[in-house]
Amino acid sequence: MLSKTLNAAVSKMGLTVTENHAFGIYGGYLLTVYEAGNKKTAFFNFILDDDTEEDENVQERSNESSVAAFEISEAIKKNIDKFSIIDYNFMDDGLLVTTNQSIQVFLELIDFCTELLREHKIKGGDYCSNCGKTFGKRFPKKITLGNRNYLYCESCAFDIYEEHNKPDALKTEAKSGGKSFFGFLGALAGGLLGAFLYFAIYMWVLPGSEALEDFDWRFLVIILGFITSFLVFTGYKLFCKKANTFAFVTVTLLSAILTAVGQYIGTLVNIARNFSLDFDSFFIYKNWFLMPFRNTVPEDSTEYTDLVFNTDFYRFAIIGVALALLGSVIFLLGFYEKSRPVKEEMFLETLKIQNVADKK
Ligand SMILES: [Zn+2]
Repeated sequence: MLSKTLNAAVSKMGLTVTENHAFGIYGGYLLTVYEAGNKKTAFFNFILDDDTEEDENVQERSNESSVAAFEISEAIKKNIDKFSIIDYNFMDDGLLVTTNQSIQVFLELIDFCTELLREHKIKGGDYCSNCGKTFGKRFPKKITLGNRNYLYCESCAFDIYEEHNKPDALKTEAKSGGKSFFGFLGALAGGLLGAFLYFAIYMWVLPGSEALEDFDWRFLVIILGFITSFLVFTGYKLFCKKANTFAFVTVTLLSAILTAVGQYIGTLVNIARNFSLDFDSFFIYKNWFLMPFRNTVPEDSTEYTDLVFNTDFYRFAIIGVALALLGSVIFLLGFYEKSRPVKEEMFLETLKIQNVADKK
């Protein structure tokens, strides 16, 4: 919704007022104007020459438009204070400027930008802002995306409209397939680091804490489950930013599995240490790798009666894995929120305007 005063001002400029914005050809460019609080934004649609056309002068024109883009950006930068510009973005197909100043200043800013674009001979309302072809006698198609309007030739408009309304899965799966694999590798690397932390802490940190024997420090070490899930998640996100089902399954499973593996390794280290075995002699036991899963204390042993490892592994692993799952859920929810595409609705219509050049 435009405020009454802005509505009146843009109507006077010949713009068409819609529910959320006003648009129209102004100074040769398709202009869209909208308001949010005291922030007023103008979007000028145009097309910068690029090098996709097959034309011998292409390189030259492409350089020219780079220069023009640079000069326009510089000119806007120099006038940031004058127009209280709080945001601007110069793109290949449009210029977005926002000010929080009065309507008077906003209108001056619009004229300033229009003049800049014209001075640099930027292609405006006569050209498709995708392929750069001139509309000639045909009516252009107007595509509205959020609060921005674009002019396109018929074939570009339909292509863009179709592409936009494709289901997300079709659009992104193909692109992120390879990345997902690297995300998996990153997650695995993070998980192995987590498992290594278990080893390191059981090996080098816990022995030193034995002076404080009235507390079982292994209870504190289960926090490594949470840390492992963080490392798995971070490893995944480093290589793949896409929060899809594959990411959820990978991060959750690897967090749980590698936390259990870490706890297993830690328990083995603990057994070895409590039996005062160095690793070489530890491995002579036939079923050493099964030790964390069962009672390793001989029934008639008097020496190791307080060492019952079978419950230790399960107890710590269950709590650790639970923390890893909790961590995965927390990190993944945040990830999902951030990467969820905010899909704007796109509208396509034919703009019944005379060729801009004809009107002049
Ligand atoms: Zn086109």
